[in-house]
Amino acid sequence: MKLFVAGISHETNSFSPLPTSKRSFQELMIRPKTGQGLDRLNDAVGYCDFIRLGEESQMRVTKSLYCEAQPSAPMGQRDYEELRDEILDDLKADMPVDMVLLMLHGAHVAQGYDDCEGDIAERVRAIVGPKVPIGIELDLHANVTRKMLANATALMACKEYPHIDFAERAKDLFELCRRTAKGEVKPVMAKFDVPMLGNFPTTREPLRSFVDETAAMEGKDGILSVSLIHGFAWADFPEMGASVVVVADGDSAKAKALAETLGKRFFNMREKIASPLVSLEPALDQALAEPTGPVVMADRSDNAGGGAPGDSTYVLDAMLRRRIRNAALAMIWDPMSVQSCFDAGVGATLDLRIGGKTGKFSGLPLDVTATVTALAEKPRQFVFGAAAPLGHSAAIRVEGIDVVLNSIRQQTFSLECFTELGIDPKTKKILAVKSAQHFHAAFAPIAARILYVDAPGALSTDYQQYPFKRMRRPMAPLDPVTL
Ligand SMILES: [Zn+2]
Repeated sequence: MKLFVAGISHETNSFSPLPTSKRSFQELMIRPKTGQGLDRLNDAVGYCDFIRLGEESQMRVTKSLYCEAQPSAPMGQRDYEELRDEILDDLKADMPVDMVLLMLHGAHVAQGYDDCEGDIAERVRAIVGPKVPIGIELDLHANVTRKMLANATALMACKEYPHIDFAERAKDLFELCRRTAKGEVKPVMAKFDVPMLGNFPTTREPLRSFVDETAAMEGKDGILSVSLIHGFAWADFPEMGASVVVVADGDSAKAKALAETLGKRFFNMREKIASPLVSLEPALDQALAEPTGPVVMADRSDNAGGGAPGDSTYVLDAMLRRRIRNAALAMIWDPMSVQSCFDAGVGATLDLRIGGKTGKFSGLPLDVTATVTALAEKPRQFVFGAAAPLGHSAAIRVEGIDVVLNSIRQQTFSLECFTELGIDPKTKKILAVKSAQHFHAAFAPIAARILYVDAPGALSTDYQQYPFKRMRRPMAPLDPVTL
């Protein structure tokens, strides 16, 4: 059997001030045909699993382009088309194939394309014809479109938020498509739209049990897969939103009925499953009142993993004004200040203007007197096991707070954001991290308490402040909705 594997992953935020180009994808771009980026193969979760599973099954695997970029604004049309066409050209050259597996995000927008994944699926389908299985693995923050449903054989999203299960889902999707190619199953898909916006961690009840319940339905009674898809709110187009996608074996009515039943339950639990947000000042009150530490304060509004700049200063400013001691914050994306720290050297004390540079949601820059406590040229963190370079980074001490400044924009996933810069997070009373939920996998085991902080910023859940123009309405919580 011949398996074709490729992927492009970008979560596109219509309101992000950060432009996106082909260069944005260079940090994780793998071009197996030319050998470029092969050293990062294992960092491309999902994509590398498809390859491994295919090779273990004695398939002939064609590895086409894989690339991903940090969430940011819609990319230019020509850049997107060049990346897409590289994959399509590889596929044409590889025909005939027996199976196609794609690692996509599900919320990728480019200029001229609201729905890059649907566009890719449609073009891949046109090349391979109606019978070849096309499996697409998605992030659960996907906006599933009619074009994706019409052209893929199976869409399967990760189930967990934090997304710790991409590898498991890759295995499930591989198996489903392999069985389809052998004629053992006939997947049919149904989607039910769930008109809600929100941030829904799967680490908390009642969503935890709901995810487990739906996972247990798979493999029984003709149900092949169930995906609870949370949607990505900041992609401003009509098909944006949460949904439930069910893949059944040959029975469309069954898939449709189950998607609707689960979709209504998902919708009706929306208030109970949303992150319990606390405003910034009360969050600091609660953190300080906690007898032990560390209290992890998640600045979800400046989560680079959703297209926020990662350089907002609201949380640090509030901590400094309160003269908080024994705290640490990771990370403020500020390559210019990092350069100054490198030039000054470890031990130097200097005046720095940090953060607040990217846009109106970043707040004002902070003028501080800082002591450089550590410098690192190649620090990295781990994104569910995959290494992610932080770029040149510096740790500075500002009054009683250790602040990590870095130069490759990203959210805070793992403890290495602190430890690579000589900061022991376990000894701190307060740890401020810029992340909405992915921090949870690494930080929950050391946290005395976790607070989801609703600070000002680019990814506030106060959706009223964003100039949505094309979102379909009604949409909870902006509008009254009954299902
Ligand atoms: Zn996601």
